[in-house]
Amino acid sequence: MTRLAVLGGGQLGWMLGRAGIPLGVEFVFLDPSAEAPAAAVGGLIVAGLDDEGAARKLAAGATVVTYEWEGVPAPTARAAGETVPVHPNPEILEVAQDRFLEKTRLRELGIETAAFRTVDSRAQLDEAVAALGLPAVLKTRRGGYDGKGQHVLRTTPADVDTAWAALGGVPLILEAFVPFARELSIVAVRAADGTTLCWPVVENVHRDGILRVTYAPASGHSSGLQARAEACIRPLLDAYDYVGVGCVELFDTGTDLLANEIAPRVHNSGHWTIEGAHTSQFENHVRAVLGWPLGSTDLREPSVMVNCIGALPDADAVLAIPGAHLHDYAKTPRPGRKVGHITLVGPDAAALTERVDRVRQLVSDCEK
Ligand code: AMP
Repeated sequence: MTRLAVLGGGQLGWMLGRAGIPLGVEFVFLDPSAEAPAAAVGGLIVAGLDDEGAARKLAAGATVVTYEWEGVPAPTARAAGETVPVHPNPEILEVAQDRFLEKTRLRELGIETAAFRTVDSRAQLDEAVAALGLPAVLKTRRGGYDGKGQHVLRTTPADVDTAWAALGGVPLILEAFVPFARELSIVAVRAADGTTLCWPVVENVHRDGILRVTYAPASGHSSGLQARAEACIRPLLDAYDYVGVGCVELFDTGTDLLANEIAPRVHNSGHWTIEGAHTSQFENHVRAVLGWPLGSTDLREPSVMVNCIGALPDADAVLAIPGAHLHDYAKTPRPGRKVGHITLVGPDAAALTERVDRVRQLVSDCEK
């Protein structure tokens, strides 16, 4: 039996399980919560993700270890990898967990980012503001996600004081504010032999720092845009001899693509691939980490993914919309929590517009 051990057991683990089970793969997850969504598709060890002993137990009897959360401490992934291969390379966790290392590494690899400076003191913040100008975004180096742990500085000195009061005391990074036209992301899969396939570049809409909607492909998609976006992820995956699916979130300024964030795992902006692509990000991650041939990442039909935040609309209302696919993560509703998503597929983007409006209405009516 092929057994995939996964560090983390959230909805991403659940979707990895749903993709791998038809391929004959058995799953076991490690998650701090006994209510982890992935428990529906495999075994569950309940322990902290910093518990190296639990990680070794997870790996015992597994074919390969992988992870579905970028917050997994690298030592935990290495402990799990003492007896079996662990993919992707745990080294990339350390980079993805620290915004300064992340942007430094991206630039070393020739991938453009916003200008940035580290900030460890109030004096350094003043220097960074003087160097980068305003507006700028102050972020914690570690632990920020979904827009948490960041502050936009528009005017000096009032905003600088407020941002420092809110975030000062932990290592920070100040980034130049990017006046982007839109946000994009590129999701790719790399096999152990270096073969890398990318899904079409997608366009993402965030609100309050949380992804709300993904349009696949991005509007005005062209082979030129695709090539530029792929150039923002391929060197990164090659540099780490990466095996599995990864994502880079991008700002499109109209003239440049700037990388903002690395996700060394399957990504929310790739959920549409379950119905909208020939092979989903989840299936290709399973294939890659197990050393199996990759499937085509080509678009099957234009798709739009809408996240359900805080609560789910009624299934009967969603399913009455043609082309709508509901994914209920079976999580306890809580404000700001991703509890499910809906993907709409259709023959062309224009046909989807009216249905997307209906889905967004249902989702916002119940949102918490
Ligand atoms: P992050 O936590 O870095 O993913 O940022 C969350 C969201 O904040 C992004 O999706 C952007 O909408 C916005 N944002 C982050 N960094 C910048 C920046 N340097 N300039 C403008 N907007 C930003």
